[in-house]
Amino acid sequence: MRKVIYPGTFDPVTLGHIDIIQRACDLFDEVVVTVAINPDKTPLFTIEERIVFIKESVKCYPKVLVDSFDGLVVEHAKNVGAIGIIRGLRALSDFEYEFQMALMNRKLAKNINTVFLMPHEKYTYLNSSIIRNLASLNSDVSDFVPPIVQEALKKKFIK
Ligand code: ADP
Repeated sequence: MRKVIYPGTFDPVTLGHIDIIQRACDLFDEVVVTVAINPDKTPLFTIEERIVFIKESVKCYPKVLVDSFDGLVVEHAKNVGAIGIIRGLRALSDFEYEFQMALMNRKLAKNINTVFLMPHEKYTYLNSSIIRNLASLNSDVSDFVPPIVQEALKKKFIK
């Protein structure tokens, strides 16, 4: 049973994240999408909302589980019995930070490897903060997020 975790803020989940989840499912037996509880950030959506959005968007993937964590990623990976951490790489700009994190995590837990996956090109410029900005300006985000997120954004920014 080769299990991995895919940690992130997912505020909110986008089709770029879903693309990475699909690719991880092609490679591993179980993918645990782990929503980070980060007290330093003020998210647009609560942890419960973010979990519901992901669960609804991945319900057709039986290999995917969704949970949350508020400590070290590698500790969480160990606790759920994962052999690796999935991260998405969109552009060179992601690389330096991700490389540093991956090496630090390997220092903390040498048996847990970070696996980088690239999304389809059409999602390489997509991130959750652009989506929050677009939605706050009442722009259509239906090409970039699952339907449940689109609805929630509409409600959130209704004038
Ligand atoms: P974080 O705040 O940890 O970067 P995110 O929720 O923004 O959390 O992203 C989680 C992971 O998904 C990160 O590895 C990030 O690089 C990746 N990711 C985010 N958006 C995309 C996208 N459009 N395509 C591919 N990977 C993505």
